[in-house]
Amino acid sequence: MLENIRVVLVNTSHTGNIGSTARAMKTMGLSDLWLVDPVSEPDSKASALAAGATDVLGNAKIVSSLDEALADCSLVIATSARSRTLDWPVLSPREAGRKMISESSQAKVAIIFGRENNGLSNDELQKAHFHAVINANPEYSSLNLAQAVQTVCYEVRCAFVEQQESNTVTEQEAYPLAEDLERFYTHLENTLTDVNFIVKNHPGQVMAKLRRMFNRIRPDSQELNILRGILSSVDKNTKK
Ligand code: SAH
Repeated sequence: MLENIRVVLVNTSHTGNIGSTARAMKTMGLSDLWLVDPVSEPDSKASALAAGATDVLGNAKIVSSLDEALADCSLVIATSARSRTLDWPVLSPREAGRKMISESSQAKVAIIFGRENNGLSNDELQKAHFHAVINANPEYSSLNLAQAVQTVCYEVRCAFVEQQESNTVTEQEAYPLAEDLERFYTHLENTLTDVNFIVKNHPGQVMAKLRRMFNRIRPDSQELNILRGILSSVDKNTKK
């Protein structure tokens, strides 16, 4: 279960935070760390702060895009200190921990953390099914990156222990991977542009709102295939 839980750091500036993240993860039993386009790669400062977790740090995967880090995950949660332009379903760290543990018995799940200076962009936040917000002082709610990772990983640990003690495994639906969902969104956007529902130079918020809707509904793999099939029929008939 814990092996299926991936921590993703986006565009981190301070290597010390990468090391502290590795330590925060290992203390809670997590090991799958992905770094998306870090400003600098892990160095001696990262190793010093990783302390006994240099194995987690050494095995961290470095990729250039967030899509690569999420491709094989079927549940994606993004963390944010504040809500953005478009409201998204929000979970507390406790709820996020429970959700990740219940789904990680079947598939890979990812939790994303943003940049020290300006968090995650709206596009990045919109790749997630849920946003997790750590309750904090409304006048100063932005935690240090690695401390935010520690808080969430602690809740994952608590949920894991809770799950072990109750000894129940809940049946899960087969949900599509993030890469399949991205393919669907591209297809949907192309078809909606072809039928002039989306105007190329003035796309507005339509795709963001549709992403939010599909993330809320969470179609399973079979349902996503039906949706792709519908789009293909529309494509075939508009090209006639
Ligand atoms: N100034 C940035 C905060 C960045 S803090 C902003 O306003 O978004 C760096 C990262 O730590 C955030 O992107 C998020 O992943 C995490 N983080 C910090 N405080 C948090 C909080 N209260 N709830 C959830 N995540 C938080």
